[in-house]
Amino acid sequence: MELADVRDDLDRELISEREIVDKIAELCRAIERDYEGRRPLLVGVLKGAVMVMADLARELKLHVDMDWMAVSSYGKSTQSSGVVRILKDLDSDLAGRDVLIVEDIIDSGLTLSWLLGNLQSRGAASVKVCALLRKPDAAKVDVPVEYVGFDIPNEFVVGYGLDYAERYRNLRGIGVLAPHVYS
Ligand code: 5GP
Ligand code: MG
Ligand code: MG
Repeated sequence: MELADVRDDLDRELISEREIVDKIAELCRAIERDYEGRRPLLVGVLKGAVMVMADLARELKLHVDMDWMAVSSYGKSTQSSGVVRILKDLDSDLAGRDVLIVEDIIDSGLTLSWLLGNLQSRGAASVKVCALLRKPDAAKVDVPVEYVGFDIPNEFVVGYGLDYAERYRNLRGIGVLAPHVYS
C-alpha cells in the first residue's frame, strides 16, 4: 500500500519508498566493506524488521544467514521498560558467528541494549547493529549502532514494517501517524 492510500491517517509523509531503497543500498555498501570475505548472521527482530531485513538481505552482495527473534518489553505503556522477554528465540548457534542485528527503529534503545548483551553472552565473535530509523532519545542509552539509515524526530511513525495496533506495516513508505488515529 502507498502512503497516499492512507493519507487521512497521516500527519505527513516522512520517508518515501525511493528514499528507503536508496538508503538500504548505501547501508549495504558499508556492510559489504566491513564484512568482506565473511558470512554474517543477520538477526531480524520481529515483526517490525521484516521489511528492512527482506530488502537489506537481497541488496547485500554477501553470503548471509538469516534468523529471527521476537521479544517483548514488559508493561503496556508506550515507554519501553528495558525488561525484555523472549517470545521466539533464534534457531542458530551464535558461537563464533559475526552477528548483525537488523532493527526497524531505535527509540529509547532499551530493547536493543538488552538484546546486545544477550547475544554477546552466547559466544558470538562480533555483534553489531543496523537500524533503519533512530530517534533522538536513543542517544541517552549508550548503545553503539554501526549502521543507521535515518535520524528522525521524536514522533510516532508507521509504515515499512512499523505498526500502530498491527496496522500500516505494509505501507511502502514511512509517515507520521495523525493524532486523531490514536486519541
Ligand atoms: P525501544 O528502543 O524504546 O526499546 O523500543 C523500540 C521498539 O518500540 C521498536 O522496535 C518499535 O516496536 C517500537 N517503537 C518505537 N518508536 C516507534 C514509532 O515511532 N513507531 C512505531 N510503530 N513503533 C515504535
Ligand atoms: Mg524493532
Ligand atoms: Mg509495534
